[in-house]
Amino acid sequence: MSNKTIADLRNTVMAKGFASGKPAYVASAKGAVITDVEGTEYIDFGGGIAVMNVGYSNPKVVAAIKKQAEKFTHTCFMVMPYESAVTLGEKLCRIVPVPAPKRVFLTNSGAEAVENAVKVARYYTRRQAIVVLDHAFHGRTLLTMTMTAKVKPYKWGFGPFAPEVYRIPNAYCYRCALGLKYPKCGIACAEYIKDEFFGRVTPDSIAAIVAEPVQGEGGFITPPPEYFPRVAQICKENGILFVADEIQSGMARTGRQMFAIEHWGVEPDLVTVAKSLGAGLPISALVGRAEIMDSVHGGGIGGTYGGNPLACAAANAVLDVYEEQNMLARSEKLGRKVRKAFDALKRKYEVIGDVRGLGPMLALELVKDRKTRKPAPEETAAVVKYAWERGLVLLSCGSYSNVIRTMMPLVITDSQLKKGLAILDEAFASLGK
Ligand SMILES: *Cc1c(COP(=O)(O)O)cnc(C)c1O
Repeated sequence: MSNKTIADLRNTVMAKGFASGKPAYVASAKGAVITDVEGTEYIDFGGGIAVMNVGYSNPKVVAAIKKQAEKFTHTCFMVMPYESAVTLGEKLCRIVPVPAPKRVFLTNSGAEAVENAVKVARYYTRRQAIVVLDHAFHGRTLLTMTMTAKVKPYKWGFGPFAPEVYRIPNAYCYRCALGLKYPKCGIACAEYIKDEFFGRVTPDSIAAIVAEPVQGEGGFITPPPEYFPRVAQICKENGILFVADEIQSGMARTGRQMFAIEHWGVEPDLVTVAKSLGAGLPISALVGRAEIMDSVHGGGIGGTYGGNPLACAAANAVLDVYEEQNMLARSEKLGRKVRKAFDALKRKYEVIGDVRGLGPMLALELVKDRKTRKPAPEETAAVVKYAWERGLVLLSCGSYSNVIRTMMPLVITDSQLKKGLAILDEAFASLGK
């Protein structure tokens, strides 16, 4: 069927709320390129929302899935377990920056991992309050939607929300919530937790602070080096668990570290992992200190599909690919190239107010003018639309819908990257016309 025929059918059967960025239907995808049903090729700077770090149709991952599919596709780990889930747990314990000894719980989606982080944190601390950051995104289930900051489209009309979720400012230095300037501010946003926030929500009622080290949907907000060490210290002093939501920022998305929080030298109590872990197969994990994870009684956490054998086969293969193909070095190198290109774009186009991020998890924040920093969501949408029409998949984000972000597969070739960046440059040039 053609794109148009499928789209017509879609409109009669699929829920409108389950919307797509582009009405082109995928036939196949390889590496960093997606081909639609009409043979049009797209260079992908989105990676299916940071899922495809090892590239589409990675041969090693495909082979592992095929092999597993012929053996068994499900038994339920809680009924009768299998080795691949344990192997994956062992690998995750090796790479996730939680102090040892540690334990792993396998789930299906990012939101499910975050939900379970909260369940376990509440169970262990016997406290109920959960603290999240401004501009956070943690998912779309009732609890994780509550933890998410942006109202439209994520929360609008879906209340009432879950209780005992509180919000503090993030270190969004380009738009400081406290109106201060880094580094003169002395990281006042972290001190605010102690000086102000604890007066409203008493620390001995707080189970955990949950934070994305580099915020994804919120606009790739990247706090300065002092921020997370200070937040983690305040947590420690008050018996509050520090949870890093690495669902988007993990898996070498931020360059030379496997997980973004490692750039700050902080070891969280709990970490959530998903997206690029399964190369498209739905799998996520909660990894935490053994003392915390094992406080929960047998059967207290679980799920029918958590650690599904096909997903474990994929994730095990993904982690092997990371090692064999040195994805950390690749990511760092890619990050340097994108950063250089983005800095050049900023010099060229006034509409770009800020370049930020870590490694190839980079973003451009668009503003009406650089003095007032008034967000430019229309220009952002125009750049994205232009790119799509020229064969570049580009994703925006940000609380003000004015940020363009890159999450391309780490295996993107130099020529694909160059072509994609050229389209992006043209898209900015088209704004003035
Ligand atoms: C995508 C995302 C989630 C939610 O993951 P789903 O698999 O869509 O439920 C949670 N946290 C962060 C930081 C994310 O980027």
